[in-house]
Amino acid sequence: MACSRSIQALAVSPGIAIGRVMCLHRLVGNRPDRREVAESEVAGELERLAGALKRTREQITSLRDALRDRLDRAGAEIFDAHLLLVDDKALNAAIGERIRSKRLCAEFAVFDAVEEFAAVFGEMSDEYLRERAVDLRDVGNRILSNLTNSAPDTHFSGRRIVAAPTLAPSDTVQLDRSKVLGLAVEVGSATSHTAILARSLRIPAVVGLPPEVMEQLSGDDTMIIDGFSGKVIINPDDRTKEAYRLKAKTAGEFLEQLERDSALRPETADGFIVELAANIDAQAKYDEAREVGAHGVGLFRTEFLFLDAAAIPGEDEQFEIYKRLLTDAGDDPVTVRTMDIGGDKSFSGVYRAPEENPFLGLRGIRLSLYERPDLFRVQLRALLRAGVYGNLRVMIPMVTSVLEVEETRKVISELEDELRASHTEFAPLSLGVMIETPAAALLADKLAPIVDFFSIGSNDLVQYTMAVDRGNERVAYLYRPTHPAILRLIDCCVTAAKRNNIFVGVCGQMAGDPATAVLLMGLGVHELSMSPGSVPLIRRVIRSLSLYEAAQTARAAMECRNAAESLALVQDLLARRVPEIAAL
Ligand code: PEP
Ligand code: MG
Repeated sequence: MACSRSIQALAVSPGIAIGRVMCLHRLVGNRPDRREVAESEVAGELERLAGALKRTREQITSLRDALRDRLDRAGAEIFDAHLLLVDDKALNAAIGERIRSKRLCAEFAVFDAVEEFAAVFGEMSDEYLRERAVDLRDVGNRILSNLTNSAPDTHFSGRRIVAAPTLAPSDTVQLDRSKVLGLAVEVGSATSHTAILARSLRIPAVVGLPPEVMEQLSGDDTMIIDGFSGKVIINPDDRTKEAYRLKAKTAGEFLEQLERDSALRPETADGFIVELAANIDAQAKYDEAREVGAHGVGLFRTEFLFLDAAAIPGEDEQFEIYKRLLTDAGDDPVTVRTMDIGGDKSFSGVYRAPEENPFLGLRGIRLSLYERPDLFRVQLRALLRAGVYGNLRVMIPMVTSVLEVEETRKVISELEDELRASHTEFAPLSLGVMIETPAAALLADKLAPIVDFFSIGSNDLVQYTMAVDRGNERVAYLYRPTHPAILRLIDCCVTAAKRNNIFVGVCGQMAGDPATAVLLMGLGVHELSMSPGSVPLIRRVIRSLSLYEAAQTARAAMECRNAAESLALVQDLLARRVPEIAAL
């Protein structure tokens, strides 16, 4: 590919890289042959499998420990999760069953079982769950290479931008950081573990490179990747290279400066505080939030505790998880969302019935109240008990009616009676609703008097308001959070919350994006909760403008005719007040 070409990909790790390309077309193991073994060989195959599993465990442990030594907590946690996969009971049973009953060789048994499990994840429309297929295949490949005593080659000479169809977390971490300028990958998303690792290794990265581009790339090509805008330029001319060198220098200095600001208050130029909180998932620890100076957790997604049907945590186990998070957070608030199962997160261990329109089906609080009240009660009991250990807020997802809140309160009060009767210590729950449906937003004045807080789940609020499946790229052009209809619904919630003197936060993606964060603060939202990596950027946005001008812009945006007009208004403000961010 000699001529210059520019492509728009998705930025997942900030920074700019300029350099020669290194193509890793096949990093991971090949599909093994389907070989059947004789009855007498079965025991030997099981023994080979046990040996490979042992070596896999040792290798992952040492990768994890190396990252821990480098104080890379996020990276180390990914390998903690891989260790759990190596020991996953259901997966191991599936592999063993293939060897014992189908008499398959260990290699094919591993490959086949991993593919079956990964396919289930891979088909889910939730990005987070889809990415777990990558982790599973990564672990599977490692077991395979231990069975065949072969290792993927990730060594190369010179400093390069690594381009690959897919890059598993363990490949990413094994790349020699001193040689990798940047990563350009075909498959993945901002929530993929590879992206998380790239961010923690501070390697600029983009994903979503079109497959035809990947196929044509060679080691003779040069590339620029812009981890801020997602732009990829192949074989740039000298002037473009020079312009990006300058941008890289300015951006690098700016990012360093942002990280140094983590102790500064998220205070607007006219003296108002907009709280910044972190969204974390089941594996994350509070330190991640603390490091970036977040004030508490605005969303702890608990449904991931229910992923593995064979290992759904009971009351005591959940109690320990919540207690630990609350203890780590000290006085900072921790907002736990009760399991949001259903929709794209249809975990078969919890709920099986097929639905034509799962996003409009038995999801969130509907499933908790009417399909699995048993699991809901266990979770609420664990939360009531854990509340003693910190500043806990509990919220219910997918609310559309007052009745759902009243029924939840009824369950909570029954559980409180039970706990009192058995002399078990508990703390009253601060109960909130997620505003994720137009119904909830329009009914905010009726909901506010019966709850302690609102948390706007903008990811779903946009989906349900715009009638756009959030995972369908064909209608992605309609998925526009700056649409005046969305802003008006949020305004409805904030007005009702203020009248009833309750707190209102936003925990969807809108909170972590500079433009929409301005609109939200302008509408009067008290707290913005986002992935920890976005906190420094949004802190800078908040500190760079007055609440007054954010409010004026938000009012004007609500009066716009479409999402593009309102976006232009806020981008104009950002360009004037935080040109460094607008320029990224
Ligand atoms: C949301 O809908 O904005 C939200 C935070 O919940 P989730 O993305 O988990 O659906
Ligand atoms: Mg949601």
